[in-house]
Amino acid sequence: MSKKYLITTFGCQMNEHDSEKLAGMLENMGYSEGETLETSDIIVLNTCSVRENADLSFFGKLGYLKNLKKNHPDLTISVCGCMMQQPHIVETVKKKYPFVDIVFGTHNLHEFPQMLIESLSNRELSVHVWNEEGDIVEDLPVKRKLETKAFITIMYGCNNFCTYCIVPFTRGRERSRKPEDIIREITELAQNGTKEIMLLGQNVNSYGKTLENRMDFADLLYQINEIKYLERIRFMTSHPKDLSEKLIKAFGACEKVCNHIHLPVQSGSNRILKLMNRQYTKEHYLQLIEKLRMVDKNIAISTDIIVGFPGETEEDFAETLDLVKKVRYDSAFTFLYSPRKGTPAEKYEDIIDEDIKHKRFNQLLKTLNDITQEKNLLYEGEMVDVLIEGKSKTDETKLSGRTTTNKLVNFKSNSKEGKIVPVRITKARTFSLEGEAIEN
Ligand code: SF4
Repeated sequence: MSKKYLITTFGCQMNEHDSEKLAGMLENMGYSEGETLETSDIIVLNTCSVRENADLSFFGKLGYLKNLKKNHPDLTISVCGCMMQQPHIVETVKKKYPFVDIVFGTHNLHEFPQMLIESLSNRELSVHVWNEEGDIVEDLPVKRKLETKAFITIMYGCNNFCTYCIVPFTRGRERSRKPEDIIREITELAQNGTKEIMLLGQNVNSYGKTLENRMDFADLLYQINEIKYLERIRFMTSHPKDLSEKLIKAFGACEKVCNHIHLPVQSGSNRILKLMNRQYTKEHYLQLIEKLRMVDKNIAISTDIIVGFPGETEEDFAETLDLVKKVRYDSAFTFLYSPRKGTPAEKYEDIIDEDIKHKRFNQLLKTLNDITQEKNLLYEGEMVDVLIEGKSKTDETKLSGRTTTNKLVNFKSNSKEGKIVPVRITKARTFSLEGEAIEN
């Protein structure tokens, strides 16, 4: 029986995809995926440092693993990802969790097999964290969670230095993959049945700036749009300051690009946007939304919003609510601000009282949810194309999938994962739609 591994991933889709690469490397070494921590021989925790609660759940998990390791001394525990790029975290792991076997960072993920072989022979804590990014390593094995829907990283790192964000310090400066490597990867996937790809990067619309032969994200979209058998293209995340006219035009011209964009706004107050170093204004953001809706009137728009950034007044918060009502988002990720060690905003004064933060957060959530519900109601009675992703998480007898506008639809059907089926929407809920498949 082969030895088992289990990877726990915290954070964003970039991390999810890194874990798919770790899984690919482990399977190449002969391991197979386990089901529980208790029955696994190798455990990897792939961490995120963007939010405080991801930090806390990582340390909570490590605490649990301490006892597991006592009863299972051959267990190998590895910790990696963004948190490990922060020296104070590595020190904490070394001091408080000495039972960890391997610590590595975001820049040398490709070295994991070598680190594992060494660790299995010497059984000593080994720390391998590169401070700086190296060359992009291509052709790592990947074990994808879904065959029909694939993550493709097109660039790494970020140059924007938003004052609340740790990512430029943990993921390094912006580097773009060569277009030919991206096209080759997607072409192979499409030939093997992948219908949808999600292009990933911290700021995909600044893609190409580090390439020898300069090209931009719009050029890349036009090329991917030509790939045979591929049906849908999504991308994440976009920065409003880099959403060019050319890119908006490409958005309308490439028929495989889904009609959904995730465009993080973070705040509706120009004063707070400046403190966040976001490099755009509320007015500019609203103009972008107008232009996007001119090229695609049905486009769905989602966003990220931070509540309670240092110095946020009632007036600033009212500007955010005003922006939300003007844009009418289809969905949003909302966050209570928490300072991240090593970021400029960590030193900002004028911290917002927790009760005030929570009150504003709840008010924002209610506004957003009411709008989402109203927008979802417009789908009732409509026909939509749904790419089936698998069984519904809420009802095993149903399938679930997404529309090109990224709405989650649950419905009964005999079709299989990976098919795109027409579905009539029968009921709108706040976070999903119910429907019935129209089958021949
Ligand atoms: S754009 Fe800003 S929020 Fe996004 S990863 Fe870069 S620094 Fe962080």
